[in-house]
Amino acid sequence: MTNVLWLQGGACSGNTMSFLNAEEPTVCDLIADFGINILWHPSLGLELGNDLQILLRNCISGTIPLDILVFEGSVVNAPNGTGEWNRFADRAMKDWLADLAKVAKFIVAVGDCATWGGIPAMSPNPSESEGLQFLKRQEGGFLGKDFVSQAGLPVINIPGCPAHPDWITQILVAIATGRIADIAFDELNRPQTFFNTYTQTGCTRNVHFAYKASTAEFGQRKGCLFYDLGCRGPMTHSSCNRILWNRVSSKTRAGMPCLGCTEPEFPFFDLKPGTVFKTQTVMGVPKELPPGVNKKDYALLTMVAKDAAPPWAEEDFFTV
Ligand code: SF4
Ligand code: SF4
Repeated sequence: MTNVLWLQGGACSGNTMSFLNAEEPTVCDLIADFGINILWHPSLGLELGNDLQILLRNCISGTIPLDILVFEGSVVNAPNGTGEWNRFADRAMKDWLADLAKVAKFIVAVGDCATWGGIPAMSPNPSESEGLQFLKRQEGGFLGKDFVSQAGLPVINIPGCPAHPDWITQILVAIATGRIADIAFDELNRPQTFFNTYTQTGCTRNVHFAYKASTAEFGQRKGCLFYDLGCRGPMTHSSCNRILWNRVSSKTRAGMPCLGCTEPEFPFFDLKPGTVFKTQTVMGVPKELPPGVNKKDYALLTMVAKDAAPPWAEEDFFTV
């Protein structure tokens, strides 16, 4: 049996909603087939008040073995480093977290807020939020750069706003079955199995990207969203077009630009009007290009590609 404790810091519950919608495997599969015992979860836990405090203290003392601590939401340190803005079970949540992190075999951060601070950590960060081991791309975070859990691993980061449900349940299964040892991590502690390719991999609009067939309207069935609507698919590490959402679609397939939600800099906009769904350009060339692409070559290539585009490059690939 693998004991899982799930806690929420500065969170909107988006990752909880995502988790409860997982399909491969489902939350029921975790319990019925993979021996996962959910000790407590904000939406599923039965204990309240004193009973919950006893459960948490039993985890800290080792009376209940804590195999996996899942944390959702940012670590809130305000005001002035006390964490009192986020109290839980009669203490600052960050104090529970510090104690539980010392005994957990594995720690999994789900969603951008837990991994790197997310939206709450946007400047001016009034809640003094940070992620478990990162603040945006800067290593450290609440637990510190050198932290490793009892199993000898740093915090396993599953970013996203929210994280894809199956990324979460599949990592829990990998831990429960001992297969986590075979999974490689990148420099941001993201499991490579989900984050080694770009959102663009598997996007149905790749032909439109190649021939610069653009769309400037949301929800259209054809046209690449990079040239006008600021799609970050070519710059974002995620498997959203390989492991589809609800097993049927993805943001870009539905005609919505990727916002880059699995990268520490998310959200990339600075809240100035016109900066969110608008490709920022300098002399007609996007300010940010896919990694490894040089501006001069890009300008030349896209001009030629547009002129050379065959009629089928404009086709709606959902119906062909
Ligand atoms: S819509 Fe986005 S992910 Fe899809 S091909 Fe265009 S830039 Fe790439
Ligand atoms: S498509 Fe982009 S913004 Fe949407 S969930 Fe995937 S990585 Fe996040």
